[in-house]
Formats: sequence, structure tokens, C-alpha cells
Amino acid sequence: MRLLLVEDDVMVASGMKLGLCDAGYSVDWVGSAERAEQALQSESFDAAIVDIGLPGMDGLELTRRLRSNGQAMPVLILTARDALHDRVQGLDIGADDYMVKPFELPELLARLRALLRRSQAATSAVLSFGPLEMDQAQRRIVLAGQVLEVGPREWSVLEYLLMQAPKPAAKDKLLLALTGWDKEITPNAIEVYVSRLRAKLEPSGIALRAIRGFGYRLELKAAGDGAATSPAA
Ligand code: CA
Repeated sequence: MRLLLVEDDVMVASGMKLGLCDAGYSVDWVGSAERAEQALQSESFDAAIVDIGLPGMDGLELTRRLRSNGQAMPVLILTARDALHDRVQGLDIGADDYMVKPFELPELLARLRALLRRSQAATSAVLSFGPLEMDQAQRRIVLAGQVLEVGPREWSVLEYLLMQAPKPAAKDKLLLALTGWDKEITPNAIEVYVSRLRAKLEPSGIALRAIRGFGYRLELKAAGDGAATSPAA
């Protein structure tokens, strides 16, 4: 994990850098917001630790600019004691967390771990089943190596089926997954989307089996005989 540390106080920065490196992070340290922007133009980081009190542009303005440029990495801001306004403003403009100086290294490390865990979970949200992969962050489905086009309601149905797989998905829960799109949707409409999905998935060996009185289940068809089975069951 690579971190960008933006801190003008040499003593504070070198202590933090030492502690972060000891904890296994690689740390690039810069002393100003302007240097941080330069670093971000050519390098990518898993998270940034940004002091608010900096010479020139301050840490709040840096954070605001990062977000308006589309930088999504976690940002942890460092604030002075009693600077409640800074902390609130920092969170409002897109910082993910803050630490009040002076702080203990173990707490900084714990907060960083939590931030990185959350951002990794958000960026690696891929649901998969056999040859089917749904990337929720990119909103893209790949089936047997080919991008699969589906409508927004088919997406919602398939997403719920994938989240439940290999267990069956209840029809009333599928209905709930669709109500964001259409309040008036009927149980019969589910069957329309299911049959469209079935037509798209079956050629690649994925069956969408109806479970009478309950709902539907994704199953992998065994090669050769057309019979459907659950994967790794
Ligand atoms: Ca400072």
C-alpha cells in the first residue's frame, strides 16, 4: 500500500513516515499542497494523509481540489486540537476521516486500515458465478469473456440472484430489488426479466431454474448433458 503524506512539520512528518513504514506502508512525503498535486499527476496512491495547516494552499483546499478532479482515494486529514470547524469542513468537502494532533501512532494505523478496507471493498465489488462476472463499481457484466448487455431491470434481477447464489433468491425479494425502478411492478414482470436473462445466460452454461413457490436459482449446467447443478456443491 502506497501512501501520500502531506505535512510541512519535519519532526511530525519524519516520525509518521517512520511509523508508517514500520507498519509496512510505502510512504511518499511532501511538504506542501502544491507538491502533493504534482505527485498525484504522475503517481497513484492508495490513500493520502493531509495536514490542514500547510504553507500556501491549505489541506482543506487540497482535499477539495482532489475531489473535484475525481480523485477517489481515501483522505485522512490532520487537524489541530479545538479546530472543530476545520474537521467538519474537512469531512463536508470529501475527507474520509480525521485525526486531531497530537495523536498516537496505533490509532492512526487503525484508522488507515479501516479506510483502506472500505475503499478496497468498494473498488473490488465483483460478483461472480461460473463464467459470469458482474462488476458493480464499473457497472459491467462479462460472460465467458464477452461484455453482456442487459437493461437496468435485468441488471437488478441478476444482481440479486448473484448475491444469493448458489442459494435460491425469493421472488418477493427480487420484486423489492426492482421497486427502485418501478413502484407499480407486478410479480409477473419478474418472469419477463428472468426469461430475458435466461436466454442470455443459457448459451454459456448458466441456467436460471425456477423453484416452485419460492423464486429462482442460478445453476451451472454440467458440460455435455444439459443437466443443471450448483457449482462446487
Ligand atoms: Ca502543519
